[in-house]
Amino acid sequence: MTIRIKVCPICESRNLRLSSQFDGWLVPEMYICPDCGYKGPIYLEIQIDEKELEKE
Ligand SMILES: [Zn+2]
Repeated sequence: MTIRIKVCPICESRNLRLSSQFDGWLVPEMYICPDCGYKGPIYLEIQIDEKELEKE
C-alpha cells in the first residue's frame, strides 16, 4: 500500500514543515525545509510505500 507525503521541492527532504507562524486569514500556507532552507508555498507530493515510512 502506498501513501502520499509532502516533501521539499528543492531537495525532496521529508522534513518539510508547515509554518504556523502567522495566524492571519489572508496569509497563504508556507512550507519550511530545515534541510536546505527552503521557504515558500510550494511543496512536492510523492508516493511512497507505507513500509518505507515505518523504517524511520
Ligand atoms: Zn529542502
